Amino acid sequence: MNTDIVIAGGGMVGASLALALAQLGFDITLVEAAPFRTGGSPSFDDRTTALSNGSRRIMEGLGVWSLVQHEATPIRKIHVSDRGRFGFARIDAAELGLESLGFVIANRALGAGLWQRLEATGVRVLAPARVVDYDVTAEGCQVRLEGEAAGSEPVHCRLLVAADGAQSAVRKSAGVESSTWDYEQTALTANLTTQVFHNHVAYERFTPTGPIALLPFVEGRVGLVWTLAPTDAAETLALPDAEFLERLQQAFGMRLGRFLTVGKRQSYPLSLTRAEEQVTDRVVILGNAAQGLHPIAGQGFNLGLRDAACLAEVLADGRVASGAGIDPGAAALLDQYRAWRQEDRRRIVAFTDGLVRVFRQPFAPIRLLRDVALLAFDLSPQAKQAMSQLSLGAAGRIPRLARGAPL
Ligand SMILES: Cc1cc2nc3c(=O)[nH]c(=O)nc-3n(C[C@H](O)[C@H](O)[C@H](O)COP(=O)(O)OP(=O)(O)OC[C@H]3O[C@@H](n4cnc5c(N)ncnc54)[C@H](O)[C@@H]3O)c2cc1C
Repeated sequence: MNTDIVIAGGGMVGASLALALAQLGFDITLVEAAPFRTGGSPSFDDRTTALSNGSRRIMEGLGVWSLVQHEATPIRKIHVSDRGRFGFARIDAAELGLESLGFVIANRALGAGLWQRLEATGVRVLAPARVVDYDVTAEGCQVRLEGEAAGSEPVHCRLLVAADGAQSAVRKSAGVESSTWDYEQTALTANLTTQVFHNHVAYERFTPTGPIALLPFVEGRVGLVWTLAPTDAAETLALPDAEFLERLQQAFGMRLGRFLTVGKRQSYPLSLTRAEEQVTDRVVILGNAAQGLHPIAGQGFNLGLRDAACLAEVLADGRVASGAGIDPGAAALLDQYRAWRQEDRRRIVAFTDGLVRVFRQPFAPIRLLRDVALLAFDLSPQAKQAMSQLSLGAAGRIPRLARGAPL
């Protein structure tokens, strides 16, 4: 089979990219290891994701937002605190002249919207099928697949995109090295009901055992991301509901009154994975395949979605310049993509990793400094404006889709 672009991985980032590229008239083949729309996708599980305003605009541009908006809860304020200490900071959307600081949505709901849109736009989806490896040929790439929907022949394309997650098979086949830093922390996630309505406030509470994020969610619920040492996480995960809620109450405090009920719990070991290259011959590596981040600042998907929006924009502009004969895997285009993404990626990785390291420090002078820094932040409108800029990207040119403009 011949196609213009193969996207390996139809998770949050790969499915979004497929929708963006389909707008440009490319023939796209999306290969996803999990079966199509069965609820078995590891990317579209019960986690909640905080979407920045830029990501919400990208979803609008992809025609997904109108399908999922009713499942998304706006964040109007963020409250950051250091449990048992004096440091705290608040960010208020209204003070920054914004309607909201972002939106919280269940991955499952976002996934359903993305897949519904993929069906409507007629993107070719091979699922369940896995990309195993590929060879670069004179004309492009020859991609080998396996699995029920794989077919018996390799797929020929001009550009191969690795959106197949942190363990990316494409990245390995490309011979691109990656580094992994194990944070020796595990995130527990669940949805909870609380005695006091969240009132659209997202809480990030740093505790001696790790940060607790409580995100405003649909039907008055809150989405929990609780970071713990792996052994504590395993023990906490196995607790009966009442004991789980009591332990969380002790750790978080009473800002939302009593925690009343807890839904399904899941756990995720946390690490920082970084691919050494984002581009090689006819291949782009993006999303978690390029960088897997700690969820402390809710940046991983937002960054991966900007990867997708930027790649689509480079190819859109390439199409205008070269017409229908464009080679989407041409080195000059991929170089533009690489140059554009470097700074945003570097800064978001450094910001997220720095936050993890500073807030896990037991060393008293550093704890004092971070409390002072939180208070200084709380008093500085400029710092808050700069922070809200993260919602669009940490540095450099912002992709058109994230600004609400068409591709
Ligand atoms: C607890 C937690 C909370 C988070 N909260 C936030 C948040 O609030 N905001 C935020 O921006 N980010 C958040 N993130 C990060 C975010 O979830 C990830 O960045 C995002 O899921 C990355 O999407 P992806 O599509 O790149 O990769 P993945 O989600 O890993 O998807 C990869 C896809 O590729 C498929 N696949 C794998 N191998 C192959 C193969 N060989 N061939 C074909 N398909 C393959 C998989 O089945 C999967 O569907 C959070 C992460 C965690 C763990």
